Amino acid sequence: MSDYLEKIKSAEEVAWINPEKIPAEEGLARIEFSEADIDDAAARLERFAPLIEKMFPETAPDRGIIESPLTEISAMKEQLNKDGADLEGRLFLKRDSDLKVSGSVKARGGIYEVLKHSEELAFESGLLKGWDDDYTRLASDEAREFFGKYKIQVGSTGNLGMSIGIMSAALGYNAIVHMSMDAKQWKKDLLRQRGATVIEYEGDYGAAVEQGRAESDADPMSYFVDDENSSALFLGYAVAAKRIQAQFREQGIVVDEDHPLFVYIPCGVGGAPGGVTFGMKVVFGDNAHCFFVEPTQCPCMIVGLETGKMSDICVQDIGLTGITEADGLAVGRPSGLVSRFMQLFLSGEFTVADDKQNPYLRQLWKNEGIYIEPSACATFIGPARMCSSEEGRKYLADNGLVDKMAGATHVVWATGGSMVPQEIREKLLNE
Ligand SMILES: *Cc1c(COP(=O)(O)O)cnc(C)c1O
Repeated sequence: MSDYLEKIKSAEEVAWINPEKIPAEEGLARIEFSEADIDDAAARLERFAPLIEKMFPETAPDRGIIESPLTEISAMKEQLNKDGADLEGRLFLKRDSDLKVSGSVKARGGIYEVLKHSEELAFESGLLKGWDDDYTRLASDEAREFFGKYKIQVGSTGNLGMSIGIMSAALGYNAIVHMSMDAKQWKKDLLRQRGATVIEYEGDYGAAVEQGRAESDADPMSYFVDDENSSALFLGYAVAAKRIQAQFREQGIVVDEDHPLFVYIPCGVGGAPGGVTFGMKVVFGDNAHCFFVEPTQCPCMIVGLETGKMSDICVQDIGLTGITEADGLAVGRPSGLVSRFMQLFLSGEFTVADDKQNPYLRQLWKNEGIYIEPSACATFIGPARMCSSEEGRKYLADNGLVDKMAGATHVVWATGGSMVPQEIREKLLNE
């Protein structure tokens, strides 16, 4: 067993560099998705924008495009450096925590998949005649009655269920969300209030997905959102790279050979961070260095990649519990689809102990006045260790980046938080 696996087995915090990464261009030539697929997804989101604006008036300022701010967090950078990070360059927060409609990164992939499925049904039935038709008709009583004959189901630790549940119920579907034991009560309550059916499980995420899939497969009127293998989810997430490219331009941020980009994203099953990473490679090529973050008890992506067994191994197989406070990351087995791609594109990973989440949460609140949920806070271990850990420094040296770091841009992906109820926020901030 490799040294890394020994450390991972004993739930130590590790910095792991992916030995199998290859140049972006070579990797992109090997996989079945391309930039055209991202553009297709982005165009679909444009077609649906008038409908989204009509159904969710809070999206009106962006004309129905669901997108989040990119905010520089220099006080947080100073805080990390006071604690020994040695971080050079500028530090930004990509605030998917503030995405409209469902308050997490899942508002990208999850909502996209529901819309894609709805477009297919609408074309088949004649409810929509073509791409230039008026999509706001899908908010009519007639359309709601039509979608009401169908079910959409999903297994979730929380946030994916929120995205799928809120969007499907709003369109009139029977939305059924199979929730694992990790799912927070407030997420279940909110979903029920929006008209979704929530089924609770004693088991973990894998069990919720398995049950959801079985129930959906047995019903011809039901569509299952398959977080472990869905290409629609993956492409919905990937659109983020095009959007952040535009934000970089607006803010005068340069990414090129002399100005490397570091992206740190928390990983559960891998769909969200994998889709974003794929998009980053398409847009920025080898100038984008993407790192995942996983809890020490639940590092399913590292285990899959380091053993080469991908989705054929889970964290329990090597003696870890899979249990973490970071509900969004409580996934013991990585996506087969995504781990295959990440082997080619991912720079590395950092694991983080649960007891670091709340200190980061409070530091971000104190320094920047921004609240994000614990699963998202875990990600600060990335910039904290990129330049200060032995493995991180070796990565910079091996990639010729050491003298370019003053011009680097670091982006921490804040994957969720704006919908956390006030009393729970206060509890976490005062703990
Ligand atoms: C879902 C989620 C992630 C990880 O996404 P996966 O697609 O499961 O890898 C990270 N953070 C939050 C807050 C999430 O909800």
